[in-house]
Amino acid sequence: MEQKKKVVIIGGGITGISAAFYLQKKVKEKELPVDIYLIEAKPRLGGKIETVQRNGFTIERGPDSFLERKKSAQQLVKDVGLESELVNNSVGQSYIFARDRLHPIPEGAVMGIPTNILPFLTSSLFSLSGKLRAAGDFVLPAKEVKGDQSLGQFFRRRFGDEVVEHLIEPLLSGIYAGDIDQLSLMSTFPHFYEMEQKHRSLIFGLKKSMPRKNQKQPNKKKGIFQTVKTGLQSIVKAVENRFDEVHVKKGIKVTEIERLEKGYRLHLSDGSVLEADSLIISTGHQAIPSMFKEQGASFTYLKNMPATSVATVAMAFPEDVIKSSTKGTGFVIARNSGFTITACTWTHKKWPHTAPKGKALLRAYVGKAGDEAIVEQSDEIIVKTVLDDLNRIMRIEGKPEFSVVSRLMNSMPQYLVGHNEKIKEIRDKMATTYPGVYLTGSSFEGLGIPDCIDQGKQAVRDVLQFLRL
Ligand code: FAD
Repeated sequence: MEQKKKVVIIGGGITGISAAFYLQKKVKEKELPVDIYLIEAKPRLGGKIETVQRNGFTIERGPDSFLERKKSAQQLVKDVGLESELVNNSVGQSYIFARDRLHPIPEGAVMGIPTNILPFLTSSLFSLSGKLRAAGDFVLPAKEVKGDQSLGQFFRRRFGDEVVEHLIEPLLSGIYAGDIDQLSLMSTFPHFYEMEQKHRSLIFGLKKSMPRKNQKQPNKKKGIFQTVKTGLQSIVKAVENRFDEVHVKKGIKVTEIERLEKGYRLHLSDGSVLEADSLIISTGHQAIPSMFKEQGASFTYLKNMPATSVATVAMAFPEDVIKSSTKGTGFVIARNSGFTITACTWTHKKWPHTAPKGKALLRAYVGKAGDEAIVEQSDEIIVKTVLDDLNRIMRIEGKPEFSVVSRLMNSMPQYLVGHNEKIKEIRDKMATTYPGVYLTGSSFEGLGIPDCIDQGKQAVRDVLQFLRL
């Protein structure tokens, strides 16, 4: 009988569980001789995805949704039978706090880039000179850059500092919790570079790439994000429930990976060992260097790659204690505005299913690159800091009924300028020193949930090709 191949997936976040799920699917469909193992250090799967259900509220500790446009998350939801649970966010006005007050994000702004000129021209967010400088995008030539550049360099050149600092930076920081003057353009939004090369003007290029509105169909007010009504953790649970051919080990860490003449021996934190023909490592970059004691590959870049610590602070209130004349779904804060919070979502407005009738759920964020100390404070201090900040923007006449503070330490990997080339170098070296070992997940090619799922799927293709199956 053909000897079965053993594939071990290390790390049970969304990347690892997607890899395990789609590998199991292939193994079943093609009756492949493969044994699958999934090893997760924590007692539960999901990694950064964790949902708390409390007093009728659905609270996400980490991510709260995914982009519908990137199809793989929605597909996974369908594949595990949760399609009927899918919901889109309610569309409402979002704001930026800058120049001492909230300003509506100008209509038509995509990642802060205007596609609708009038709302931008009439916006209170920018001075006249800021607007004039941003109009430079129409005339400035495209700049060919060999290799990479920072997001800051790129956007500042096209639109000027003011539009970057009041609009683009706060929006991008909301995604990466990073410093846009250090983050890589080519690892985050390479299509903006391509757009500049093709159309010169980003405003013009974006306008051209936008789907034309069908005049006959009324503009359906459907948000661009999706989640499932019972919270993102129910996707993890549903995937786990389908693991009938995946051996799942939870609460066990891989401490060392040893290369054998053929395959690998994994040393686990419970003292046991496990041999494997091929490995998918989706632990996050911090955990990787120490697993390879022989250091056949150079992990200097991974060792030095920063990751920002953030905390999410969910607070439940009776709806009537929140007094705000502003109707909307939340705001982000421009850097240097003198606030500790970086953003706040009026979750009960954006995702009405997350709060019981008559209640409000606010979720604020603290922690950004270069300003992470707050995350280490006690829950009490964090909640008080958040409430003090919020009360400078809106009036909250009462204390939260309860709050859930979630610290996600070193959770936002920072793709610095040159990231793609460094990752390629590491992977090329791995291919010779550790053949059949694939590094994947949020530290590598995108940290959005759909990007992680896509990477998990790609790792499955890599493993099957390596095993010639
Ligand atoms: P992780 O979820 O970090 O999983 C890695 C797993 O590996 C962990 O479970 C860890 O315990 C395990 N592990 C580590 N070392 C070992 C070891 N030695 N042995 C075994 N196991 C090990 N994305 C979106 O698309 N939408 C959002 O709304 C969104 N919001 C976010 C909000 C926050 C606060 C954060 C932090 C991220 C957010 N993201 C969002 C990004 C997204 O959540 C993450 O990029 C993604 O969940 C990471 O998945 P992963 O599987 O790559 O890593």
